[in-house]
Amino acid sequence: MQDENFVNGLIEFIKKSPTPFHAVQTMVEILEDAGFKRLSETDQWSVDKQPAGERCFVTRNDSSIIAFQMNQSLLEHGIRMLGAHTDSPCLKVKPNPEIINNHYLQLGVEVYGGALLNPWFDRDLSLAGRVSYLNENGQIDHQLIDFEKAIAVIPSLAIHLDREANENHSINKQEHIAPVLMKLPENSIDKDADFKKLLLKIVNAELEKYTTISNAAKILDYELSFYDVQAPAVVGLHDDFIASARLDNLLSCYTGLMALLDKEGKQNKLLVCNDHEEVGSVSAAGAQGPFLKSVLSRLCASEEELSRVIACSLMISADNAHGVHPNFADKHDANHGPIMNEGPVIKVNANQRYSSNSETGAMFKHLCDLADVPVQSFVVRSDMACGSTIGPITASEIGVRTVDVGVPTFAMHSIRELAGRWDAFYLYRVLKQYYN
Ligand SMILES: [Zn+2]
Repeated sequence: MQDENFVNGLIEFIKKSPTPFHAVQTMVEILEDAGFKRLSETDQWSVDKQPAGERCFVTRNDSSIIAFQMNQSLLEHGIRMLGAHTDSPCLKVKPNPEIINNHYLQLGVEVYGGALLNPWFDRDLSLAGRVSYLNENGQIDHQLIDFEKAIAVIPSLAIHLDREANENHSINKQEHIAPVLMKLPENSIDKDADFKKLLLKIVNAELEKYTTISNAAKILDYELSFYDVQAPAVVGLHDDFIASARLDNLLSCYTGLMALLDKEGKQNKLLVCNDHEEVGSVSAAGAQGPFLKSVLSRLCASEEELSRVIACSLMISADNAHGVHPNFADKHDANHGPIMNEGPVIKVNANQRYSSNSETGAMFKHLCDLADVPVQSFVVRSDMACGSTIGPITASEIGVRTVDVGVPTFAMHSIRELAGRWDAFYLYRVLKQYYN
C-alpha cells in the first residue's frame, strides 16, 4: 500500500467512526470484506488450533473488538499482539437531557475522559452512538445512529461579556458546555423538544433500511456523544500534517487493522481494540476486563498451554505520543522531544506508567531498522506526571511482554488533533514487519 492510499483510508475510517460503536462497526465491515469469520462469545468456538490462515474476529459490547489470524502452532510460536483503543474524550448525553433555558433547547452532557474543553466551543456538532429500544414484538434491540449533519453548537461567550477571557478563562463542566440545539417557540418542552421522541424517529428511519427488522416502539436507553462534523484533512504548506478528531486512538486502530490484513504475515497475529481506555479501562469491554484473556484461553487447550503461549508471545501497545510543541518546548525533556514525521515513538517510564522495557524496546527498534523506519524515544520531564495507556494494564492482566509506542501528535484530547502525515504510514510499515 502507498502512503497516499493509506492516508486517504485513515481519513475515511475516522469519518465513518464518530463513536467506539461506529469504529467497531467500520472495522467489522473491513474484516468481513477481507474474509474474516465472525465468532460470537456465546457460541462454542471451532477455531482450528494450528490452521494455515484461519482468520476470525469477535466483538464485546459492540465497542471492543479482537481480530486474529492463525498461521502456525501457537505453542511453538506464540502470538504477535497489537493493542489500541476505540474511545476518545467527548461529551456524552445525560439520561434526562432536555434543558429549556431562555427559549433554547439544550442537552445536558457529561464529559467523557480527559477532554480539552476549549476547542469544543463554536464547532458544528453532530450526535451519534447506540440506542436501545423495545421493538413492536416486545423484544429489546439496539441500533447505531448518526445524525451526520450539524445539529448543535456550544457558543463561546463574547469577549465583551468576559474581558478576562484571554487571560483567565475557566470552564464549568455543569454550567458552560450544554450544546444548544434549537430555538423553541415557547419557553417549555413541546413535541419538538422531547429527546426520546426525536430518537424514536431517527431509529425508525434507520431501521427502514432493513425490511427484516421490526420497528422500534419505545426508546429504552442510549449512549450518545457529540462530535465535530468537520472532516479530517491533510494540512500544512507541504501537506505535512493530518488534522482530525479522534486521532487518539483511531489512528492506531486503523494502522493496526491494515497491518493485520496484510497477506504476507507468517506469524500468528492478533489485534485488540478496547473501549474505555480514556476512563481507566475498568469495564467488561476495557483492557482491564477479561476480554483478551478470555479469547486467548479459548484458543488454548488448557491453563498450562495458555501460560506457555503467553510466555512466548509479544504485545505492542499503540497509542499516540506527545510531540514537542514549538510554542511550549519546555514542556518536554530536552533530549526526548518527539518530532512529527520522524517516526514512531517508544514510550518509556521508569515507574511503569508505560510497559516498555529494554527487551521489548530493543525488539521494536530492531523492527524499525528492518522496516527502514526512523524511531524516537519519549520520556516525560522528571518533574511532571506521566500519562498512561492500555500497555501496562494489558501487561499486568495477561503477563505478556509489552512495548508502548505511538506516533507524535499535538493537541491530544482536543476536538481536533494534529499528527504527522508520514508517521501513521511509518507505524504501518513497522507493524507489518512485526506481524511478518
Ligand atoms: Zn489514547
